[in-house]
This record gives sequence, structure tokens and C-alpha cells, in this order.
Amino acid sequence: MRRPLVAGNWKMHGSRASVAALIEGLKGGMADVRGVDVAVCPPFVYLGQVAGLLQGTGIAWGAQNLCQVAGSGAYTGEISDAMLLDLGCRYVIVGHSERRNIYGEDDALVAEKCRVAVRAGLTPIVCVGELLEEREAGQTEAVVARQLDALLQDGEGVAALRQAVIAYEPVWAIGTGKTATPAQAEEVHAFIRSRIATHDKALAGEIRILYGGSVKPGNAAELFGMADIDGGLIGGASLHADDFLAICRAAMS
Ligand code: PEP
Repeated sequence: MRRPLVAGNWKMHGSRASVAALIEGLKGGMADVRGVDVAVCPPFVYLGQVAGLLQGTGIAWGAQNLCQVAGSGAYTGEISDAMLLDLGCRYVIVGHSERRNIYGEDDALVAEKCRVAVRAGLTPIVCVGELLEEREAGQTEAVVARQLDALLQDGEGVAALRQAVIAYEPVWAIGTGKTATPAQAEEVHAFIRSRIATHDKALAGEIRILYGGSVKPGNAAELFGMADIDGGLIGGASLHADDFLAICRAAMS
């Protein structure tokens, strides 16, 4: 039985004041969320504040990215695995479509970041998903397979996935208000599991695969009710405590 995970990706939003108010709201509503892992991923600069506010609560925290070089060094503007651990992060989002499509992160870099995160003991939430034109050209499975294969290319990659979470995020559904139908999402989630099964059958059954793309309180339960969907990576709705909590409750089975 896979335990659902609902993770909030705050992207480049927030201020010290809004972070305090949002965390306060989340803490106030967590009592009736059971059987679900919950995490928030604020911008790097608010991780320390969030860590202080969430210490001792059931809510974990993570980062939205990390450097592919471990430890420390001359990498201006980068944040390392060691720094995230120092701030008590459990998760790190890797290969979000905004990182891939705006900052040019390719499959090999995403796979390297995934391995670095796992070596450090962090849980990477590795994002995969197709662009609208790729879906329209019937290339969804080919694109997702290519992104997955970069992660599965060798023994270390397969082993790394045992400590990872996958997030299927069709790019056309992110921040657009257009959600994949539960059937569309399930089809790709099942494909992801079958692709992983060609390398490691047990892992395919165990790995959590989140759906992301305009998940809201009104559509979460139906999406999370699908057999291969194990929770969500939530963008816009994670900035509103009531919405995020409602989505967490929808993941309770
Ligand atoms: C995301 O950023 O990962 C995401 C799914 O965003 P939204 O929920 O706003 O579509």
C-alpha cells in the first residue's frame, strides 16, 4: 500500500509575512489530515523560516531545486544538497518543467540531480511530463519514456529511484487551469509504472507517482482516486491554506 504524498510547490511566491500566515493556516488545519505525507517547498530564502515554524509538526519541507554538484564550492548562485540537509529538508523537487523549459535543464542533468539528492539522503520529487504540442503529436509516452530512461539508465539510477518520488505533470496543465482528466492522468501514470517495471518490478509497485497540474479542491478526490495516482504536486492551490488542506484531505483513503 503506497502512502499518499501531497507536496506544495510555492514557486517564486511569498514574503516573510505571507509565509508566516500560510504556515499558521496549515498548522491550524492539519489535525484532521491522517494517513497522508504532507510537505511544502518554499523558495530557498524562506526555508530557514519554514523549518523553524514547522519543527515538530507533521508537515515536512523541501526545496524546489538543488545543484548537481554536492557539498560546497565555487558555484555562484547555487544551493547544494548539504545546505538543504542543514536546513532539515526532507524533499527536493528535481526537473520541474519550469526548470527544464525556462532554464534548459536536460534529462541528463535532472538524472544527475536526482542521484545527488539520493546520495545525500534527500527524497527527490522528480518531475516528468509532456508539452501540449507533444501531446497533440501523440508523443506523450515517448517523451515520458525518454525522461524516465535517463533516470533508469544504470544500476545507481534504478537504486536512486527507490528513494524517490515521481511527479507526472503534463506541462499544458501547469498553472493553466486545464487539468488532465483522471483517465488521461491514470493512463500516463500506469505507463510510468510499466516502464519502471521493465527494470525493477518491485520498485514499479512501490514508487509513489504524484499528479501535478491545476489540482484544486474540486478535482483532487477524483484524481487521487485513480489506481496509480498517489497524491499530488500542487502549485497555485498550495499558496492558500484552506485549498491545500482540502487537497490533503482528498488524499486520505
Ligand atoms: C506545479 O508547479 O508543479 C504545478 C502543478 O502547478 P499548478 O498546480 O499551479 O498547476
